[in-house]
Amino acid sequence: MNTFKYSNTNKRYHTLDYFYKNKFHSKISKISLNAGFSCPNIDGTVGYGGCIYCSKSGSGEFGGKIEDSLEEQFNNIKKVMDKKWKDAKYIAYFQARTNTYAKTEKLKSIYEKVLTFDNVVGINIATRPDSISDDCLEYLEELNKKTFLTIELGLQTINKKTSILINRCHTLECFEKMVKKLRKKNINVIVHIINGLPYENKEDMINTIKYLNNLDIQGIKIHMLSIIKDTPLEKLYKKEKFHILTKEEYINIVIEQLELLRPEIVIHRITGDPDPNKLIEPTWLIKKFCVLNDIDKEMAKRNTYQGAKL
Ligand code: SF4
Repeated sequence: MNTFKYSNTNKRYHTLDYFYKNKFHSKISKISLNAGFSCPNIDGTVGYGGCIYCSKSGSGEFGGKIEDSLEEQFNNIKKVMDKKWKDAKYIAYFQARTNTYAKTEKLKSIYEKVLTFDNVVGINIATRPDSISDDCLEYLEELNKKTFLTIELGLQTINKKTSILINRCHTLECFEKMVKKLRKKNINVIVHIINGLPYENKEDMINTIKYLNNLDIQGIKIHMLSIIKDTPLEKLYKKEKFHILTKEEYINIVIEQLELLRPEIVIHRITGDPDPNKLIEPTWLIKKFCVLNDIDKEMAKRNTYQGAKL
């Protein structure tokens, strides 16, 4: 039974599945491709060492293999996906590192190639707000006319102190300017945030959501902070043992955040999906479906839904 306008299940928030089914009238499989980009926050252009939580793969654990061509990556993952869902359409997802960090000509050759693959109806490009040149923006506008384009920007938090601690190396002003530029070109924007960043309290996380609710964004990915082996965050955690949110604390914060979000904003992700072999904390994150179910149960218990407190 539907309990919420933008959901086709028992979920009380705007699910991605609902959004895609209405838009494409088909199951959508996301295919994560790795085009081998770098990141200006790793190579020294805007910062060194990267964001402190960033893993060696640049947050692209589950994507295609870099040594394979894009077409091979696509076909290999498609084969696996097709076993689960026949007749699905595909969205090519460029997740690892900064996927607009190259000359526009190179970007064009990559993204135009992907558009020629079977049944690709959209492209999601994850990037940094300081890595979209005017030239690139013009190309993205063109690309947006050919396919369903979504740009994913990592904000993580609006708290300046935390942004310095996590070595994000771009400002909130830079982020906001880019969201506005993309929206002016009518390009869909998804924003990533992280709950449980070191020394943030509930108010910080709620403030990030309140800020985003007032921006013209189309979707959000809510992550729980994962402490991954061999990252600067692991070192910081071992040294300072800052508080890691319990599952109950996380669920409570996520529900309060959802209550403050416009119902039209699509919830692309509501928990983390770390590689269990590399995860130090929190171990409760491994049971992803448990977290998702507990969020649903708690929302039903409170008889609440996305946007309830607006
Ligand atoms: S911007 Fe992304 S790829 Fe670059 S360091 Fe931060 S998390 Fe890693």
